[in-house]
Amino acid sequence: MDFELGEAQRELRELARAWVDKEVVPHAAAWDRAEAVDTAIVGKLGDMGFLGIEIPEEYGGSGGTPLDYCLLLEELGRGDSSVRGIVSVSLGLVSKSIKTYGTEAQKRQWLPRLCAGRALGCFGLTEPGTGSDAGSLTTKAVADGEDWLLSGTKVFITNGTWAEVAIIFARTGGPGPKGVTAFLVPTDAPGFTRTAIKGKLGLRGQATAELVLDQIRVPDANRLGELGQGFKIAMAALDKGRMGVAAGCVGVARGCLEESVKYAGQREQFGKPIASYQLVQELLADIAVDVEAARLLTWRVADLVAKGKPFGTEASVAKLFASEAAVKAANNAIQVFGGYGYIDEYPVAKYLRDARVLTLYEGTSQIQKLLIGRALTGVNAFN
Ligand code: FAD
Repeated sequence: MDFELGEAQRELRELARAWVDKEVVPHAAAWDRAEAVDTAIVGKLGDMGFLGIEIPEEYGGSGGTPLDYCLLLEELGRGDSSVRGIVSVSLGLVSKSIKTYGTEAQKRQWLPRLCAGRALGCFGLTEPGTGSDAGSLTTKAVADGEDWLLSGTKVFITNGTWAEVAIIFARTGGPGPKGVTAFLVPTDAPGFTRTAIKGKLGLRGQATAELVLDQIRVPDANRLGELGQGFKIAMAALDKGRMGVAAGCVGVARGCLEESVKYAGQREQFGKPIASYQLVQELLADIAVDVEAARLLTWRVADLVAKGKPFGTEASVAKLFASEAAVKAANNAIQVFGGYGYIDEYPVAKYLRDARVLTLYEGTSQIQKLLIGRALTGVNAFN
């Protein structure tokens, strides 16, 4: 195995790192306090080509590999998980699903604008009554001539109030996953209501919303993929999405490490920098080991994806480990900072609040364990 990055990848990483230091890091605390990132960041992400990685150039994308995507998401995760999440959802879940399952017309309609950051996408799977058990969702799509009428409620939808297009998963058939179909729904359609969810523990800069669909009429041309294929589309998006979330977690943990090493070198107690004490070094070493392990697990997934090999279980392993590692790293970082870690003058408190959700969305840690357990035993322990 070759663990060295190629020249193009090193360049992308340096470009992303410098861009995040200039455009994200100086604003992250203010966006967190204001509970909104400056939406101009979306156009800037598009201008850099960051919203088009892995999307072919003929659709306005910037090409590249799954590893390129991971490198970008690590840098964004270090800067601000709210910004990382905008990309994870609009590019990772929406554009990539359109690339894989969309018709030529759907690709031409949405991908150039999504890649340029002139439009955002959101991914409407979770409902108030169905989170982990997404296959039981109740949003309905009823055929009406050549059209569909969609009704239901989606909750916790990232980019929800900003997005111009939503992938909505709705029931077109019987109960269970096989009765679910995906639709591309413009968010300005009559009957579409979006309400911001405020007061989040972390990811406060991100627009998280409840979506209510009241008899929204969409033509059959807006159906994404085949009838009854919706749950498969959602799960395929989330499998790959977990790789991106894991990369974002590596960024959080790395940010914690860099901040902690810097602080430990400057802060003096008992007449010496706290970096000179073994118990402080233990905190730093634990974070460093987790960063390395989480990154290697994530890059392993990227390698499998690039080679077209199965990667679902490996993505669960990476997401589970990296998200728990990010929470631990942020907790350790606060310990290194002492009382200063508890206030938002330094970034580590925000790292902990942002990291917490990483063990919840795109499948909770328990759900990842059930997926890994099913792969190990062949037994489904979900229900
Ligand atoms: P539940 O499913 O009710 O789980 C509650 C607890 O029960 C958890 O600990 C869970 O692990 C456990 N549990 C459930 N079933 C089992 C089982 N079989 N065995 C053992 N334990 C179990 N969703 C979207 O569709 N699109 C988005 O863009 C999106 N963005 C989000 C952004 C944020 C900030 C948040 C908080 C959530 C977002 N979500 C999104 C929703 C997210 O994916 C769900 O919150 C998550 O899947 C968990 O569902 P739930 O909250 O309903 O919890």
